[in-house]
Amino acid sequence: MLAARLSSRRAASSLGANSTRAFTSTSPIMEQFDVTVVGGGPGGYVAAIKASQMGLKTACVEMRGSLGGTCLNVGCIPSKALLQSSHHFHDAKEHFADHGINIGDISMDLDKMQDAKSKSVDGLTGGIEYLFKKYGVEYYKGKGSLKGPNSVSVVKNEDGATEEIDTKNILIATGSEVTPLPPVPVDNDGQKIVDSTGALEIKKIPGKMAVIGGGVIGLEMGSVWSRLGAEVTVIEFLDKICPSMDQELTKKFQTTLKKQGFKFKLKTKVTKSEVEADGVVLTTEPSKGGDEKTEKYDIVLVATGRRPYTEGLGLEELGIQTDKLGRIEVDEHFRTAVPSIYAIGDCIDGPMLAHKAEEEGIAAVEIMAGFAGHVNYDAIPGVIYTYPEVASVGKTEEELKEAGIAYNKGNFPFSANSRARANGSSEGFVKVLAEKDTDRILGAHIIGPNAGEMISEAVIAIEYGASSEDLARTCHAHPTLSEAFKEACMDTYDKPIHF
Ligand SMILES: Cc1cc2nc3c(=O)[nH]c(=O)nc-3n(C[C@H](O)[C@H](O)[C@H](O)COP(=O)(O)OP(=O)(O)OC[C@H]3O[C@@H](n4cnc5c(N)ncnc54)[C@H](O)[C@@H]3O)c2cc1C
Repeated sequence: MLAARLSSRRAASSLGANSTRAFTSTSPIMEQFDVTVVGGGPGGYVAAIKASQMGLKTACVEMRGSLGGTCLNVGCIPSKALLQSSHHFHDAKEHFADHGINIGDISMDLDKMQDAKSKSVDGLTGGIEYLFKKYGVEYYKGKGSLKGPNSVSVVKNEDGATEEIDTKNILIATGSEVTPLPPVPVDNDGQKIVDSTGALEIKKIPGKMAVIGGGVIGLEMGSVWSRLGAEVTVIEFLDKICPSMDQELTKKFQTTLKKQGFKFKLKTKVTKSEVEADGVVLTTEPSKGGDEKTEKYDIVLVATGRRPYTEGLGLEELGIQTDKLGRIEVDEHFRTAVPSIYAIGDCIDGPMLAHKAEEEGIAAVEIMAGFAGHVNYDAIPGVIYTYPEVASVGKTEEELKEAGIAYNKGNFPFSANSRARANGSSEGFVKVLAEKDTDRILGAHIIGPNAGEMISEAVIAIEYGASSEDLARTCHAHPTLSEAFKEACMDTYDKPIHF
């Protein structure tokens, strides 16, 4: 499968300039573009660059005023910038002394931290604009809507004028937005009830912060402000945080966050919020109903999820269906009910992740060009960038049990990994799940330092159908954290050495 895909990619990238002519000459209509991408987030901009690299005449319509979508502007990148800065602060305050580094009193300059974040965002979004120029993608700044199977209308940001684009294919990559929580209306400017975008712009370190929703975004943003001194309480409707994760990992993760000072109110729902001059009073009750409680917080972060964003696109007029969660319905080739219109990323089914959107973007334009674009949904990693990090790929133990698949399990703690010990950061473990009969790796789950980088090894293993023995017999550099992955694989098919 992989070899077939590689050869199709090689063929696609060797098409060169003539491919545009070959591609458009089959069409009876003279289109202005071969592909018009609506949305310049990671799904859209990656698809646009790839399409242009393949020789397709490509346009990308983005209304935000900068490229990179949620990810670069108000998502992955700014949140990771704040996580990194707050981690440095926390490390300096709590852990440098363990290494003999005495720095006395330290303080946090919030404006400078926000400047550093903005600098990363500006550099990266500007970088995408440079790449568009480099690869010849036509960038339309404005809101796009679908006027027909081969027509996109753009209302330009600059002057409100409308421009029509004729195009052979359309790729919808309009992403997602925060799902509102009616009892707790967000007002980012007010800095009392914020969503993830507002949580990236907090101007003063809160004393008490409530995070509604125990998912990835809430826990990452909660970590930032907790490290800077806020007392963070996570209020979660369910009985656990990150419910779709491997449960062994979830339990360890919650214990770790508790040790860091997080408070958890599980099986709890928020029914009311009242904004006062100096904070927000939240009313909660047990998820199943029961006695109400009230508590006051300086700031409340609503992080209960995101929903597809397709407003004003004109889907209904073209007969393009959405499901009950508002996701655009597509077939396995990312095609909507209109054959020339495709959709990818957060606005369709699947995990709302930047790298999933990117993979789909590449596959969709390869398919448009007549090649075998494909995404392996079993090999999409998920990472939570807290400290320690949490990273997963493939099946969880609960999923294997439910599917009745017999498996072997290996586990290796970072406390037995020499590099983690030398670094003074050895919390967590690596867990590997492999099919009992074949030893093929089906899932890997890591909580520990650098888990987000280490998970790539498991992704490659799953992509190539490797066995745990394959990985266990692969030489890993010493001393590295990734030796913990090797040893977890040894434990899966036999025994680890260092534990
Ligand atoms: C705080 C936060 C942290 C996150 N961290 C991570 C992370 O660490 N790793 C990860 O993988 N994912 C993360 N995500 C999720 C990630 O940002 C999304 O999954 C990803 O951005 C989806 O990409 P996309 O291209 O589908 O859509 P988006 O990035 O949402 O981009 C869609 C773009 O389309 C534009 N648009 C919409 N409609 C129109 C229209 N009609 N005309 C023109 N333009 C339009 C929008 O302005 C937007 O810029 C995070 C999200 C948030 C909110």
